[in-house]
Amino acid sequence: MATIIDGKAIAAQIRQNIKEETAQLIASTGYTPALAVILVGDDPASAVYVRNKQRACEEVGFRALEYRLPAATTQQELDALIDTLNADGAVDGILVQLPLPRGLDEQRVLLRISPEKDVDCFHPYNVGRVMCGDGVLAPCTPMGVMELIHSTGVSVSGKECVVVGRSNIVGKPQSMLLLRENGTVTVCHSKTADLAEVTRRADILVAAVGRAGLITGDMIKPGAVVIDVGINRGADGKLTGDVDFASAKEVAGYITPVPGGVGPMTIAMLMQNTLRAAQARMAEGKGE
Ligand code: NAD
Repeated sequence: MATIIDGKAIAAQIRQNIKEETAQLIASTGYTPALAVILVGDDPASAVYVRNKQRACEEVGFRALEYRLPAATTQQELDALIDTLNADGAVDGILVQLPLPRGLDEQRVLLRISPEKDVDCFHPYNVGRVMCGDGVLAPCTPMGVMELIHSTGVSVSGKECVVVGRSNIVGKPQSMLLLRENGTVTVCHSKTADLAEVTRRADILVAAVGRAGLITGDMIKPGAVVIDVGINRGADGKLTGDVDFASAKEVAGYITPVPGGVGPMTIAMLMQNTLRAAQARMAEGKGE
């Protein structure tokens, strides 16, 4: 029977550490880190995500700046707001909530955000730094996964690590972070010929697909660390992961639940990135 990894508790501890570090920064410099969140349109799910991020900012002691723009916002107007925030010395992080309404170009937006304020770590410059293993900012969800793995005490070094999913946001950067810690990493995807054959080799298995219950107990190596990034809403409205929790927990050594596993870590890592961005900017004399 697997040990359940309590992402909620681990995320709360990380937020507490950030709160203390932020209080020290404010006390020693008088500067308060600030995260600007831009929400375009009125997608209800996006509004909930933005509210949660605002709350997390307030909890750790950051200034939370919110920009709500109508769905009819033009690309030029959005570009202009990003340019203003890029130039604002009192803003450390800029986050544009995705998806954007039709007609707005997400790729262009991600490229426009100054890399030093790109707290989602989506800009190709920061993606490249992740590949090189030397960036200030880290991709939030994959970094949260690493923290959950660290919490088990299992070392990544020399382990067979299997990542299921190869998206730019989760799967690919996840594989880089595991590689950075000397894991032997395999990335699976929709064209993988025999998924179960690969996942059964994994000492550390990360599922980031978006298909409820794809990974069943018989696909897991006994004692493995299983991290479930997937968020799937069932017909009954309930959230489930990509891992079939009931069968997997009988085989795995450690496993994350959904909800309460990776989800809370993503926002905690966003706060960490914002603090790191502020510290880096202050070190360069850029914080106001
Ligand atoms: P995506 O749709 O961009 O990528 C999914 C990946 O899964 C693709 O690379 C695809 O090749 C692979 N895939 C699809 N079917 C497969 C199959 N049958 N076998 C093996 N691989 C298969 O998704 P994403 O943005 O990476 O997100 C993945 C999941 O993680 C989603 O459920 C998403 O909601 C969730 N997510 C959670 C958080 C969080 O904070 N907890 C953050 C980001 C994403």
